[in-house]
Amino acid sequence: MTTIWLSLGLALLVGCAWLFTATSARGMGRPPHAQPAVARPATNALTVADIKGLNREAIRAMLKRLATTRPPDVIRDGIMISCYYAVPSPTNTAYICPICGEKTLYTKERVGEVEDTIPSFRSEVKNIQALVGKAVTLDETMYCRRCRPQVTQPKLLLTIHFNDGTSRSLSQVTSSHLRELQAFLKGEIKLKNSFGDAEPLQQYLPHLETMLGEKATP
Ligand SMILES: [Zn+2]
Repeated sequence: MTTIWLSLGLALLVGCAWLFTATSARGMGRPPHAQPAVARPATNALTVADIKGLNREAIRAMLKRLATTRPPDVIRDGIMISCYYAVPSPTNTAYICPICGEKTLYTKERVGEVEDTIPSFRSEVKNIQALVGKAVTLDETMYCRRCRPQVTQPKLLLTIHFNDGTSRSLSQVTSSHLRELQAFLKGEIKLKNSFGDAEPLQQYLPHLETMLGEKATP
């Protein structure tokens, strides 16, 4: 049922984008139902989801919309936390593979990756999958010595699958990028930063374009 509504929303989005472009090109002005480029659309006005993958055309329309939407004012309702505690980090840790259950020991800088980065990625990817299903996947097998015995420098691999059968694998993504992607796919124009302040999502447009491999303006 959700898929039907999302598909309908997607069809409407692409339809409106086409109508706006086509009508403007003929110099007939804006159709009465189209959003002016500088309007502030309602939050969650657009979402894009397809069980077969993300639709590139819809992604481009959403990037264009984000690029041309007047950014919201920064809302500072977050709490600035100025106390930092130096928590001694453990010298080694075990990565437990969710696929085969193998334990792989890590030391030094990999401890933070295993104990903080990987759980944070899992959680962010799960949030994204709640929106787009398996169109976005996380591969952490490089951290498992049984699944990928030849790997010496493990990395997390995020893959974005498009419904034209193409995909994009990224190894330089951070948890912040994933939060930006999640907000974008929800059709948000704001993003809460780690202090709780709402920032314009527009400032992260270059990250989104790089992740999605599409440009707001071709
Ligand atoms: Zn494994």
